[in-house]
Amino acid sequence: MEPQVKRWKWSVCNSDSWVAYPVLSDEHSQDIELMEAFASPIVNKKETARLVRELNSLYPLSGLQHIKRVRACKEQGSPHPLEVLVCLVSDAPDMEAVSLDSLLPSDGVLHDGLGEPFVVKVPARPPLTRSQFEQTSRHWPTSFHEDKQVTVAMRGELFSPPQKASMHMYMMSALAAANAGKEMGMEAVGAVVVNPATQRIIAVGHDCRGHHPLKHAVMVCIELVAQSQGAGCYSFDRYPACRFISPTSDTCLNVPDAEASSQPYICTGYDLYVTREPCVMCAMALVHSRIGRVFYGTASADGALGTKFKIHSQKDLNHRFEVYKGVLITQCEDLNRSDDHIQKQSLEERR
Ligand SMILES: [Zn+2]
Repeated sequence: MEPQVKRWKWSVCNSDSWVAYPVLSDEHSQDIELMEAFASPIVNKKETARLVRELNSLYPLSGLQHIKRVRACKEQGSPHPLEVLVCLVSDAPDMEAVSLDSLLPSDGVLHDGLGEPFVVKVPARPPLTRSQFEQTSRHWPTSFHEDKQVTVAMRGELFSPPQKASMHMYMMSALAAANAGKEMGMEAVGAVVVNPATQRIIAVGHDCRGHHPLKHAVMVCIELVAQSQGAGCYSFDRYPACRFISPTSDTCLNVPDAEASSQPYICTGYDLYVTREPCVMCAMALVHSRIGRVFYGTASADGALGTKFKIHSQKDLNHRFEVYKGVLITQCEDLNRSDDHIQKQSLEERR
C-alpha cells in the first residue's frame, strides 16, 4: 500500500502547479459592443422624475433594459449633478444640428430642466462578466446580475483542493493512456471518462488511428462508455490500455456489461478528461453523447472547444456543456511536444 499513499500525496501536492480556467462562450469573453446615444445634463434636479417618465414614453429603450436612464455626472465641480439618456442616435429624427428642439417635439417632453444634448456611448447588451461590467461602467452605468460561479471560475478558483486532487489523478490516467498509445505508434493523446457522482472512472482510451482513421482518443472513450452500457461495436483488444469499467464492478472488463438498462444515455452527467483540446469531430461526438463537462490540458490549433470553435456553447445545438482548460497543462504540453518531434522524425525518415 505504501507506494499508493505516496502517489496520492504527490498528486495533492502537485495539483497546485496548474489552474483550470473556464472556456466561456463568445458572449462572455468578447469585449462589450457599444452604440451611440444622446444624453443631456439635468440642470434642474427637481425635474428628474418627470423627465425620466416623459423620455421613457417618447423614446423607450426597448431591449436595452440593462441601461440606466440617469447617471451621476462624473466630472468634479460640474454645475449639474445628473445626466439623462434622451434617445439612441439611431432612434433620433433627422436633423441638421443636434439640439433639444430637434430631439424633443414641443408636445412630447417639456424641455424645462434639460441642458443641450451631447453624444455618449452605451453598451448594446447586458454585461455577463465582471470584466465586461467594468468595461461598460466606463461608458454608461448598467445593471449587472453577476453569475458568481463564472466570476470565481474566471479567477481559476472554482475547484477546491480535494476536487483538484481528483482532477489531477484523472488527467494523470489520461496521460498514462496517451503514453501507452504513443508506445504503440499512435498520436500521444489520452482521455478518461469519469462519473463525478461516484468519482469512478468509466472508460480510459488513447488515440487508435492505427486501427481506424476516426478513432481519436475521445471517440475511443465514447465507444468504450457505450460498451460499458452493453452497446458499441469496435474491439480494442489489441490496445490493452483502452478499457472500460463496469458500473457494477471494480474490475476492468473487455466484455459488454449485461446490466445496461439502468444506464444513462451514453455520457449524460459524465466528465471527460483529455490531454489535448478535441477536434470538431470529437467535439460533435461529445455533444451527441451528452457529456456533462470537459477538462483538457492543452489547446490545439484545430481545437473545437475554444481555439477554432466553441462548439460546447453553440446556441443552435441541442446540448451544451462546460469546458475547462489547463489541467496538468505542463505535462500535456510536454506530451504534445514529444509527439510533434516523433511525427517530424517519421516524416523526415519517409523522405
Ligand atoms: Zn478528434
